[in-house]
Amino acid sequence: MGQGPSTSALQQCIEGVAGNRAGFTAFAGNPLYQIQWVKPYNLDVPVEPAAVVRPQTAQDISEIIKCANLNGVKVQAKSGGHSYQNYGAGGSDGAVVIDMVNFQKFSMDTKTWQATIGAGHRLGEVDKKLHAQGGRAMAHGVCPGVGLGGHATIGGLGPMSRMWGSCLDHIVEVEVVTADGKIQRASATQNEDLFWALRGSAAGFGVITEFVMKTHPEPANIVQYEYTIKLGKQAHVASLYSKWQALMADPKLDRRFGSMFIMFPLGAIITGTFYGSQQEFLKSGIPNALPQDGNGHLVLNDWLGSLAHDAEKEALYLSGLAMPFISRSLAFKRQDLLGPEKIKDLFNWVDAQKKGTLLWFIIFDAAGGAIEDVAQNATAFAHRDKVMYYQSYGIGLPVTKTTKDFITGFHDQVVQKAGPGTWGTYPGYVNKALVDQQKQYWDSNLPALEQIKAKWDPKDLFHNPGSVRPAKR
Ligand SMILES: Cc1cc2nc3c(=O)[nH]c(=O)nc-3n(C[C@H](O)[C@H](O)[C@H](O)COP(=O)(O)OP(=O)(O)OC[C@H]3O[C@@H](n4cnc5c(N)ncnc54)[C@H](O)[C@@H]3O)c2cc1C
Repeated sequence: MGQGPSTSALQQCIEGVAGNRAGFTAFAGNPLYQIQWVKPYNLDVPVEPAAVVRPQTAQDISEIIKCANLNGVKVQAKSGGHSYQNYGAGGSDGAVVIDMVNFQKFSMDTKTWQATIGAGHRLGEVDKKLHAQGGRAMAHGVCPGVGLGGHATIGGLGPMSRMWGSCLDHIVEVEVVTADGKIQRASATQNEDLFWALRGSAAGFGVITEFVMKTHPEPANIVQYEYTIKLGKQAHVASLYSKWQALMADPKLDRRFGSMFIMFPLGAIITGTFYGSQQEFLKSGIPNALPQDGNGHLVLNDWLGSLAHDAEKEALYLSGLAMPFISRSLAFKRQDLLGPEKIKDLFNWVDAQKKGTLLWFIIFDAAGGAIEDVAQNATAFAHRDKVMYYQSYGIGLPVTKTTKDFITGFHDQVVQKAGPGTWGTYPGYVNKALVDQQKQYWDSNLPALEQIKAKWDPKDLFHNPGSVRPAKR
């Protein structure tokens, strides 16, 4: 803990909150601490929190926050623990981690169809409960193990986001414990500035205990498309990527369609999900614009079937399990997308590199649609104008220098080709190595966020390496 407080004072304070409750907390030095308590997702990013606490009520959280304040340590909430840089475990050593695993409340208001959901839920559980209580649904990403707490608070983008917006666009109200230990409600009419900040950068502003979220009826019919090209060389798929990118960047593209283009060692995969019937899919004109021959096929599904299909496909290239990996990411405005010649160069560059692993993937993910409908400054989420994201993964045991050079080299290539920075980085794909992380994540919303931070958390209690810092006053 370096120059921090004596661990025992912090420990005594937290143990006082725990009382005689078993399984409430563990401290650095516990022999099973990393495996059973910290549970880092990225095993290439070591982190040692001072304490991990599993509170049962908002009042517990309030008291733990007071302990952290008294002892001058930082605090991070942890929901699903799927941060790329283990920010849910503090992201750097010495934090108090508030693990939300016990916050599993769920109820549905059948008049408004708004669901109240505890912040410890994983996305897969949210889907099952929404389905069971009225056949309802919301937009979110594809990994069922990701936590709602860390996902709905930074964005939350998935195949249905072009149709319904990001996960955070579904938030109507939250309960949150703030840096002074107070349990508050935040919504469009209560603590509005805090509510604005929580929808995009909550990690720096408090611990959300529950969300009230709007929901939609589940789509009845879903068409899932998949096309695999196993040509071994990326140069062979560059023209397919150009074609796919042109389709995804078309402002008139049917919003019921979401799609990914995935480069992997043997070639590429194009996946697509259309929320409508096969007849509607054919009528949309999309099939004609997508590769149709070769190894392409369609699967007709219902809502839960489509989510399981997405999760299964995702698990082929990105496991929900902890592993050592390096990742980079960038979000593109329409005008930053690479032209065909630059795409060809980039794909040739990939072929020419040593990778140091067979487990590498580069995913291009379409955005836009309903995400773009919301104004840039309506929430803290600053990527309304982005129509495409890329993210790369190099996995290894350990991650070698060769793999790191490949992943960072690819990023440099993209940045150089996209030209000087109108792009940014999605805060769901955090990267400690980024210069000026906060500017990349929150762009034009950053100055307002810094002011709100100075009001609600002037001592920067809620902190990770990339969270919003308070404006100097
Ligand atoms: C396998 C995998 C697949 C993914 N797929 C997608 C995808 O399809 N779409 C997408 O948009 N993103 C995706 N992501 C990124 C994911 O959305 C983010 O990493 C997200 O922040 C993880 O949330 P978590 O709760 O699981 O993580 P955690 O590590 O628990 O938390 C991440 C951050 O959120 C904060 N936080 C967590 N809970 C709370 C809370 N209750 N109150 C306040 N702050 C909180 C933490 O303090 C931390 O800073 C994926 C990540 C992985 C690892």
